[in-house]
Amino acid sequence: MERVSFSGTAIERLRSGRVLVLTGAGVSAESGLATFRGEGGLWEGRDPVELATPEAFRRDPKTVWRFYTERREKAAQASPNAGHRALAALEEALGERFLLVTQNVDGLHERAGNRRIVRLHGSLWRLRCTRCGDEDEDLDLTASHRCRCGGRRRPGVVWFGEPLPEGAYEQAAEAAARADIVLVAGTSSIVYPAAGLPEIGREAGAWTVEINPERTAISDRVDERVPAASGSALPALVEASSPGAD
Ligand code: NAD
Ligand code: ZN
Repeated sequence: MERVSFSGTAIERLRSGRVLVLTGAGVSAESGLATFRGEGGLWEGRDPVELATPEAFRRDPKTVWRFYTERREKAAQASPNAGHRALAALEEALGERFLLVTQNVDGLHERAGNRRIVRLHGSLWRLRCTRCGDEDEDLDLTASHRCRCGGRRRPGVVWFGEPLPEGAYEQAAEAAARADIVLVAGTSSIVYPAAGLPEIGREAGAWTVEINPERTAISDRVDERVPAASGSALPALVEASSPGAD
């Protein structure tokens, strides 16, 4: 494991404060799932507007479904990595002091055991009818793309230009404003409003820590940067902050 170190402030606040964790596609990279932007990313050679908008789905639902079926199959085959497991352990240790806000739709945080979770961008495992709005879980990829009402079902993810699930952002922003520490891991911090959560926390007095091997759009505005992969950094952080460690 890489050697990763954290400030005393981060460790102290993890031990006794309220903790908000914000994650993005990078935390699933070590599970073998592609991130969105950059080399080898999901958008490389593709136009998101052709795949991840309501207009694209109306125009060409088969192509959009093909893209999501492929992602769902990959996510089903992937397993939570050490970073996911560390966040599940952190929730277990902190209980109500902990909230996980994720932009990920792959379900790996849930499979690792996190329950105190706000999904800002929906889930690959939920299907929603575009006619009657009925929503169902489909964990084994067997559900029909047609609803009982005859309408077409779509992946329950948030597409470009769509509002976030009702109440999700409000819950996340409220937790950010109350947090003593905000950990941001594996996100390029380009997509708003998610990318604004660390700033909300910081303005209200939280210590902000960015875990990302690359610099991002918010790197200049966090208190601490940990330039490491989340699969190494998150377990190291949880270890360092567990009672008895020093
Ligand atoms: P991103 O691909 O923009 O950024 C991934 C980040 O992870 C990068 O900064 C990269 O340096 C970092 N990273 C890579 N490997 C890492 C590792 N091992 N450990 C830690 N960090 C690592 O992904 P994002 O920030 O999650 O994108 C924001 C959101 O935009 C997405 O979650 C997604 O919901 C949304 N989006 C959705 C769609 C859609 O299909 N509906 C389309 C485009 C964007
Ligand atoms: Zn329906």
